[in-house]
Amino acid sequence: MRQYVTLECTECKSKNYRTSKETRGSSKLELSKYCRYCRKHTKHKERKK
Ligand SMILES: [Zn+2]
Repeated sequence: MRQYVTLECTECKSKNYRTSKETRGSSKLELSKYCRYCRKHTKHKERKK
């Protein structure tokens, strides 16, 4: 089953990306993504709806 999660910038807390992931056996997502508010790459963590 797939779950939709929102990726939130850990620096400015804006929710920049939406993605889906496999729920089974997956750990928390943590990705380096470009944040247009910070105007640089920052860590983005998953945030459930
Ligand atoms: Zn940011």
